[in-house]
Amino acid sequence: MARARGGVWLGSLTVAMLDTLMLARSGVDRVAERRSDAEWISARLADPASRLMSVNDGAAPVVRDAQQVALALRSVADSEVTAEDVAFLGVDDDDVAYFVEHVADREGHGPAEWGSLRDVGSGLDDRDAGLLVTAVALDNWRRGHGRCPRCGALTLARQAGWSRTCPSCEALHFPRTDPAVIVLVRDDDDRALLGRQGRWQEGWFSTLAGFVDPGESAEAAVRREVHEESGVVIGSHPDDVEYLGSQPWPFPASLMLGYHARAASTDIVVDGEEIAQARWFSRAELIAECEAGAVRLPPDISIARRLIERWYGGELPGDWSRPLGVAR
Ligand SMILES: [Zn+2]
Repeated sequence: MARARGGVWLGSLTVAMLDTLMLARSGVDRVAERRSDAEWISARLADPASRLMSVNDGAAPVVRDAQQVALALRSVADSEVTAEDVAFLGVDDDDVAYFVEHVADREGHGPAEWGSLRDVGSGLDDRDAGLLVTAVALDNWRRGHGRCPRCGALTLARQAGWSRTCPSCEALHFPRTDPAVIVLVRDDDDRALLGRQGRWQEGWFSTLAGFVDPGESAEAAVRREVHEESGVVIGSHPDDVEYLGSQPWPFPASLMLGYHARAASTDIVVDGEEIAQARWFSRAELIAECEAGAVRLPPDISIARRLIERWYGGELPGDWSRPLGVAR
């Protein structure tokens, strides 16, 4: 049932969620119940059909041809991997198992080209995108948990790379994901509120975003972050904050929860440091400034861009990394 506000805003119980978010794709089943099955994991590590990727500091070896980019995968049985350096990622529809090896440097690990999620995330197919997102997220966590946060002792990998245990105080540590909200704010004239962080280039604009505080709901975080960053007040009705989907954002450990929200006020106040600028855009203003190159939006791996294009009603030209006139 739709609800009209100010003649424009329509909240609905049947809003379509965002689909095909680039970093939310996957082609493998994680079969998480197998992570504790040491015998099964050992058998899969010895299976010549099992595939291994490497990861180092947010990137993995990739292979390219004119049309396509793909992960450079190799047979795990041909590799000298240890249980400490490897994590199990899942199995595909053909029952092929996938593992990732955390490597300390990029020498001697397959082809010369390494790709990060920002470089290749939108070019990979569903399987490879999901493998790379998971591998990078796990690696970021693992590198930060070599020592026990509780007592400082060196930790050991367990559950096929999905937990770490402390031999000194026996604490068990699991991968962390930090929830963050990201929100496109709309006013009663259906303009969109976009902001520019102080560390960004002139003309770069995106949706507002921030981490969920401890003890806070995601909806409360939407209201708090928008007000802190722009001075704009979000409506108090539950339908004024509308969830549209999520995707992992392992830079280093976020899960982005995407929203549209209805503004109850339009006056803008920014701190001039974290947020240098915030502006209301009509659709005509945004397309004109994007086409002129005066405004540039985030790249298409981001949920921010999808939230903006959902509001706009179609694709918009240019992004932070892509000059005008270059196709996606
Ligand atoms: Zn400990």
